[in-house]
Amino acid sequence: MTSYDCIVVGTGPAGSMALKRLAEAGVRTLGLEKTPFPRRKTCAGALSGAAISLLPSGYQQLVQQRATQVDIHCLPGGQVNSFRFGEPIAHLIDRDQFDLFLQGEARRAGATIREGERVTAVETDLDGATVHSSGGTYHCQAVIGADGANSVVARSQGLRPPVAGLGLEVELDLSPRLRREFAGRIIIHYGEPPKGYGWAFGKGDHASFGVALLQSRPPDPRPYLEGFLERLGLPFPQDVPWRGHPIPLGGKKSPVKAYRVILAGDAAGLADPFTGEGIAYALGSGRLAADHVIRALQTGDFFFTDYAREVQDQIVGQLEIAGKMAKIFYLMPSLTVYCLQHQPWLIERYFQKVRGDLDYFQLLGEIRDQLSVFHLPEKQRQP
Ligand SMILES: Cc1cc2nc3c(=O)[nH]c(=O)nc-3n(C[C@H](O)[C@H](O)[C@H](O)COP(=O)(O)OP(=O)(O)OC[C@H]3O[C@@H](n4cnc5c(N)ncnc54)[C@H](O)[C@@H]3O)c2cc1C
Repeated sequence: MTSYDCIVVGTGPAGSMALKRLAEAGVRTLGLEKTPFPRRKTCAGALSGAAISLLPSGYQQLVQQRATQVDIHCLPGGQVNSFRFGEPIAHLIDRDQFDLFLQGEARRAGATIREGERVTAVETDLDGATVHSSGGTYHCQAVIGADGANSVVARSQGLRPPVAGLGLEVELDLSPRLRREFAGRIIIHYGEPPKGYGWAFGKGDHASFGVALLQSRPPDPRPYLEGFLERLGLPFPQDVPWRGHPIPLGGKKSPVKAYRVILAGDAAGLADPFTGEGIAYALGSGRLAADHVIRALQTGDFFFTDYAREVQDQIVGQLEIAGKMAKIFYLMPSLTVYCLQHQPWLIERYFQKVRGDLDYFQLLGEIRDQLSVFHLPEKQRQP
């Protein structure tokens, strides 16, 4: 049986980031990926500023469009609010090339990756972990489960799967007229589906259209995607596949570790319950998971208690704030957007968060500061 220090299951953003970090630290690492790359990944492909800040250089060539405008439609009324910004609020990529790039970075750092190998089970004991895959059986000291929302690693450890909503996406070619229409801007429809939104993200000659249902036990998303395309005046695509995938609703206390096992990214339930964004949290938790494996290999402590605490402090705490925002916002999106229009500072702060200049903790702090100006007695106000 071949033996490694660490085996990473899945080479999406979380897995590749972990592999790169481990290989750079000289850890004997194997990545197992069930689907040969490049592979189609169901995702809108919008990178936030937080995601960008975690990427190795070289990603820039993959950005097909930078959006500096967002058009927000609120249904059923249909009023449109356009917000323009001096700097990009979203960097749009295709996931097949993006994930291939990250996987290549992990290989370049020295990680061994076997593609076309599906992991079927992980067992642990005091001597290490055994990973069974469609291609063989491996032994290692620690496993990082970066195998997405339906994580086999989590299930084989008896860990509860994250609460998840659903995204349904279709990618369509754009006519020259639509290319111009979508250039530099993204379109969001709130109100249908009720707890979620429809998106149109142009990427030059093609675009991602989809609906995100950010609720547990989501209804059938197809009528919402049909309705969304119809409102955009686009023909119903007969011959193009529609693809659905779970979106973890982060911010709840999902389990992120077991003895000798760490979960990262979607496998750990780390996606934003307000927007569905998950790439930044996958990159961040993948890197953090690698750091904790490196430490465990030095100390011999494979319980990963500190990892769970740091994920809670750095990521889950932020997603809890996002969850609270989602509860308020999705109650009545049109009213919330109307109110926001009269609070430009709040819009500006929120998009500072999207650009990566603030995180949710800082955003909440800014909101509290602004509101306290109205509520605190004169002597309690800060200069
Ligand atoms: C429709 C939709 C749109 C989205 N749009 C955005 C967006 O615009 N921006 C954003 O930031 N986030 C978006 N997300 C969320 C984002 O896609 C995820 O959060 C992100 O991909 C998580 O990365 P990951 O590495 O944890 O998991 P994944 O990207 O899912 O990667 C997991 C990898 O593990 C492999 N794998 C799975 N099981 C096994 C196994 N048993 N053995 C071996 N390999 C395995 C898979 O093949 C895959 O390559 C969207 C999600 C959906 C569903």
